[in-house]
Amino acid sequence: MITDRNEIIRTNCHHFYHKDCLSSYVENKKLELEEKYNDAKKNGFSVEKDFRQDIEDPVCRQILSTTILEQLPPTNRTEHIDTKLHRELIQTLSPNIRQWQQQTQALFQQQKDKGGIIDLDRTQEIIFR
Ligand SMILES: [Zn+2]
Repeated sequence: MITDRNEIIRTNCHHFYHKDCLSSYVENKKLELEEKYNDAKKNGFSVEKDFRQDIEDPVCRQILSTTILEQLPPTNRTEHIDTKLHRELIQTLSPNIRQWQQQTQALFQQQKDKGGIIDLDRTQEIIFR
């Protein structure tokens, strides 16, 4: 249900989410990365780059920009949101957005199969056609 209280946000990789949903996801992802980071340090791995702010988009795995992260409402929820639940949240978006996301996901799979990375221009071309 899309209401004023649960606004939609468009990510830097052109995906749409409820702000609240994405916020919960990011929160959980941050905890996960924090854990990984501390683990790596603890086990004596050299960590070349602090990856704790590298939150991936749940659909296309691109890193969400800080501009996006800053727009998310604060959340007190700490329970784990698994991928399946998150997919279900995405399903509640309108059919247009859902179709949009499926197209992008299909494209991503294609690119992945070819061993390439996502070509943003091409993605947009398909999305806005
Ligand atoms: Zn994305």
